[in-house]
Amino acid sequence: MPSYSLSHLADAALLRGLSTLVAQDRITTAELLAHLAEVDARQLHLPAAYPSLSDYCVRHLHWCEQAAYKRIRAARAAREFPALLTAIADGRLHLSAVVMLSAHLTPENADQLMSAAAHRTKAEIEVMLAEHFPRTERLGLVHAVGASAPVATSVCDQLSPGTVVPTRFETHAPTGSVAPVAQRRYELRVTLSAEVHAKLQHAQDMLSHQLPSGDVAQVLERALDSLIQKLEHRKYAATSKPRAARAIKGGRHVPASARRAVRERDGEQCTFASEAGHRCEARKFLEYDHVVPVARGGESTVANLRLRCRAHTSTRPSARTESNSCGTSARRQRNAPPSGEEWRAAPKN
Ligand SMILES: [Zn+2]
Repeated sequence: MPSYSLSHLADAALLRGLSTLVAQDRITTAELLAHLAEVDARQLHLPAAYPSLSDYCVRHLHWCEQAAYKRIRAARAAREFPALLTAIADGRLHLSAVVMLSAHLTPENADQLMSAAAHRTKAEIEVMLAEHFPRTERLGLVHAVGASAPVATSVCDQLSPGTVVPTRFETHAPTGSVAPVAQRRYELRVTLSAEVHAKLQHAQDMLSHQLPSGDVAQVLERALDSLIQKLEHRKYAATSKPRAARAIKGGRHVPASARRAVRERDGEQCTFASEAGHRCEARKFLEYDHVVPVARGGESTVANLRLRCRAHTSTRPSARTESNSCGTSARRQRNAPPSGEEWRAAPKN
């Protein structure tokens, strides 16, 4: 067990110890990113029952969202440009520098940008990147949004999104925020278009007998109740007057009675579980998944259906491999990292 009390050390020894640890930390960071990049390429978060690598990093490795976001971005960039890892290990680039460069690196400019960013602070790299990649059009857009919409000024300042997308993409400024302000109380900040503002006023007018104050939170609650009811009906066939189950037709059609029963049984959560018994916690992008595929004669019965997140549906090769951890180059090809679009695609109903 190391001792954390250092008051007995002479100044020179203390500084020497710090330098040694910093050097070790850089090497460890480079090795950590190399491991993370390989885990990402093999998609090993899927058999471990996590719908995305960011989810695995936050919930399994217990990193904060921002640390996960930065490391995943850096790892993905380093897979494409391995020289980034050497630069981290020898102290030329810090992690934030790699994240900032990752959005701009190409095979043509990689060497030039890496040497331009070497031993620079985050602020200096921001200036360097602004000179190389002027953003005049985006600046105009930021002004148009107005002061009420928080706009992240650099890649490093942006919080991790729910799903982390690969290296080169345009990160959008958040369009709203929800923050806890007291026990069971949240503050919602959002910028409305003129059309949405007019809809809000119209709803307040229509509700004026029941809700004379026009309280926005109460209007929002009623609107959400109505929206959720509609969505649950569409996705899970939720209804207060269920009809008797009809005969099962062939094909992919899932009867309303089966949708209701499977939702009830699976608790609106992905049913994939790792060999270690961890159940995927995904509640987004859920789909009805046939245990025995339709192509092999599987029917849309309650017994043959289950809820799976998009990452764990049996139609994905990586979900079928379950906990097989043998990584071959052929398999790595098949399980190449998903694109951002694939990760963010809307669920099919
Ligand atoms: Zn899942």
